Amino acid sequence: MATIVVYVEHQGGNAKRASLEALGAASSCAEDVVAVLAGEGAAGAAPGLGSSGAGKAIVLTGAASPDAVAAALAAAVKERGAKAFVASATSSGRDIAPRVAAHLDSTLFSDCVGLDADGDAFTLTRPWLAGKLLAKLRSNAPVLCATLRRNVFQPMSASLTADVSEVSLGEGKLTLTGIAAKEGGALDVAEAPVVVSGGRGLKESEHFKLIEDLAAAFGDAAVGASRAVVDAGWRPHAEQVGQTGKTVAPQLYVAVGISGAIQHLAGMKTSRVIVAINKDPEAPIFKVADYGIVGDAFEVVPVLIEEVRKIKAQA
Ligand SMILES: Cc1cc2nc3c(=O)[nH]c(=O)nc-3n(C[C@H](O)[C@H](O)[C@H](O)COP(=O)(O)OP(=O)(O)OC[C@H]3O[C@@H](n4cnc5c(N)ncnc54)[C@H](O)[C@@H]3O)c2cc1C
Repeated sequence: MATIVVYVEHQGGNAKRASLEALGAASSCAEDVVAVLAGEGAAGAAPGLGSSGAGKAIVLTGAASPDAVAAALAAAVKERGAKAFVASATSSGRDIAPRVAAHLDSTLFSDCVGLDADGDAFTLTRPWLAGKLLAKLRSNAPVLCATLRRNVFQPMSASLTADVSEVSLGEGKLTLTGIAAKEGGALDVAEAPVVVSGGRGLKESEHFKLIEDLAAAFGDAAVGASRAVVDAGWRPHAEQVGQTGKTVAPQLYVAVGISGAIQHLAGMKTSRVIVAINKDPEAPIFKVADYGIVGDAFEVVPVLIEEVRKIKAQA
C-alpha cells in the first residue's frame, strides 16, 4: 500500500484550501495519506483532515523553523516508507519542499499540474517553456518529491478519521519571528480566488481605479498587472503576473487591456475560468479565454462593476 506524506498549511485552525487540494491529489494516488502540520494552531487543524483524505496526521510541536520542519517531514517519509512527498506550490511549500528533497537525496518536481500513479511509479505533468508545452515526467528517485500548483487539483471528501500523533521538532538553524501582513490587508495575487488584472490598454496608472473597483465588487479578489504596466511604474512588482512575476491559478481570472503575450500567459493560463476584455479581436489572450468581450475597457468594465455589485447584493 503506497504511502504519501503531505505538508499541510493551516490558518485559524483550518487547513488551507491549497493543502486540501494537495491531500486530494495524494488520495487519488495512494491508499495511505499522512498529513504533517507545524506551527501555532496545528493541533486544532489536524483532526478534521480525515474528511479530506488523510488517515493520519502528525502535528510537529515546537518552533516551526523551516529547516527543522523539513527535517521532520523527511523523517516521517523514511519512518513510514512513503513513496512520495507533496506540498502545495505556495510560498511556504516552495520553501519547505526543496529542503525535504535534499534530506531525501531526491529531486524536486516543482509546480506540477498533474500527478498520476501506477503502483509505486509516479508520473507528473509540468508546464515547460513558459507554459507552451506540458511535459510528462517519470520520477526514478526512490521517493518522489513534488509541489503542486494550486487550484488545479480537487480536494476530496472522505469519511476517514485522522489518527493524530505529535512529534517534537528539533532545533532549526533559523527561527521565524513573525509575519507582517501587508498594510490594508489586500489579498495576494497568488492566493486570491479571483484576480482582476490590468494591462497597458488602460493607458495610464490612474485608470487602474477601474480594476480596483471591479476587484472590490467581487469582494475576494486581488489586483494583478502585466509586466508592461509594472515596468512603467503604474503598479508594484508584487502584482505582476507571468513568467517574471507570479504564477496564479484562481477560480476566475479577468484580464483587462492585456494582449496575452506568452510570458503573461505563463503565469495565468491554468486559471479555472478566464475572462478577457480587449478591443482587438485578434489579441492572443482570446485564445486562452473561456469568455471574451471585444470592446473598450472604459465602456465594458463600469457595466461589469455594476452587474457584479447587483449580483453580490442579492447573494
Ligand atoms: C523575458 C521576458 C519576461 C517577461 N515576463 C513577463 C511577465 O511576467 N508578465 C507579463 O505580463 N509580461 C512579461 N513580459 C512582457 C510581455 O512580453 C509583454 O510585453 C507584456 O505582457 C505586454 O503587456 P500588456 O499586455 O499590458 O501590453 P500590450 O502588449 O501593449 O497590450 C495592450 C493590450 O490592450 C489592448 N487595448 C488597448 N486599448 C484598449 C482599451 N481601451 N480597451 C480594451 N483593450 C485595449 C490592446 O489591444 C492590447 O492587446 C516578459 C517579456 C520578456 C522578454
